[in-house]
Amino acid sequence: MQTTKTLIFRAAVAIMAIGMLFWFSQKNRTVTVDGGFRMTMGTVARIMVTAENQQQADKAINAAVDEIFHIDELMSDYDPNSQLSKVNRHGFDQPVPVDAELFEVLTVAKLYSCLSEGAFDITIGPVVQLWRKASENNIAPTADALQKAKECVGYKNLILDAEKQTVQFAKDGMFLDLGGIAKGYAIDKAIEILQNAGMKGAMVDIGGDLRCFGMPANGKQHWLIGLQDPGDDEKILLTLNMDNMAVATSGDYRRFVVIDDQKHSHIVNPATADSANDLSSVTLIAPTATAADALATAVTVLGNKKGLDLINKIENTEAILLDANQTKKHTKTLGADQYIQND
Ligand code: AMP
Ligand code: MG
Repeated sequence: MQTTKTLIFRAAVAIMAIGMLFWFSQKNRTVTVDGGFRMTMGTVARIMVTAENQQQADKAINAAVDEIFHIDELMSDYDPNSQLSKVNRHGFDQPVPVDAELFEVLTVAKLYSCLSEGAFDITIGPVVQLWRKASENNIAPTADALQKAKECVGYKNLILDAEKQTVQFAKDGMFLDLGGIAKGYAIDKAIEILQNAGMKGAMVDIGGDLRCFGMPANGKQHWLIGLQDPGDDEKILLTLNMDNMAVATSGDYRRFVVIDDQKHSHIVNPATADSANDLSSVTLIAPTATAADALATAVTVLGNKKGLDLINKIENTEAILLDANQTKKHTKTLGADQYIQND
């Protein structure tokens, strides 16, 4: 009798233990889901998440992708119907009301203009347009045209009314180009959605700019990011170990124009209206992708010395630079080594 009772008790304990183990293993189950490639913002976006299950991951990825598409719709300067294009058409005539996201990115962009003393400037539109036309016609803009366009550039002439949420230009001929910051902003917004959806971790990549948080993919210890060799598409120059940080790379190695055998970067120095050609690649590591994106563009304009000086002053932010002439050798800020993987 005794033994039967003991046996039943032991069996019950064993069943409970197995049940708990099963529940615990389900609760701690993690899947890595790759959202695949999607065309947006003139490039390719990719989202990867770690989550409790596939269904939850798919739902969150779809919501994040929708947000990226929405930001592209608002901020594209190629689409005449975007809210940014409307601001560019009517901004001098009257204050133009805009959505919260566009207003936020304009406000933050102005802060990075102040921080970089105008090296980063979203009112660069007229000058960028001249260089874009030049690349189509293969004829460099005239000094006169560049001078006229340069006179329209100046972030201090961008009037943002926070109360009415309107945008206005103080100078005729001004227009905005968010190519140096919109990708970063879209990444941050997508990350916010994935965090709120309860993902264990995620990485959002738009055209090589990215941000990650939480548990890395496929049981790895960190999110791993390869820095491409500007001289060789197939080669990874170094690998970065990332946790809860953003990385953005600017430079002339992928997007440039050649006019009369001379290479011109798509990044323009607002002070000279000429393209910024000293650095072939600038990689910025920062807590948000908006910061990384804007500062990578700013440092490309500032060049090696001034660029490193600026980033060394900003907390939690690092830079790795490759000179246009010495692409095999990189220079970096004081704390950049903590992210570089030693092989
Ligand atoms: P990124 O690849 O983030 O460095 O952005 C480059 C894009 O930013 C260019 O293609 C232009 O659309 C825009 N841009 C160029 N020069 C500047 C500048 N000095 N400040 C802000 N945006 C710029
Ligand atoms: Mg940028």
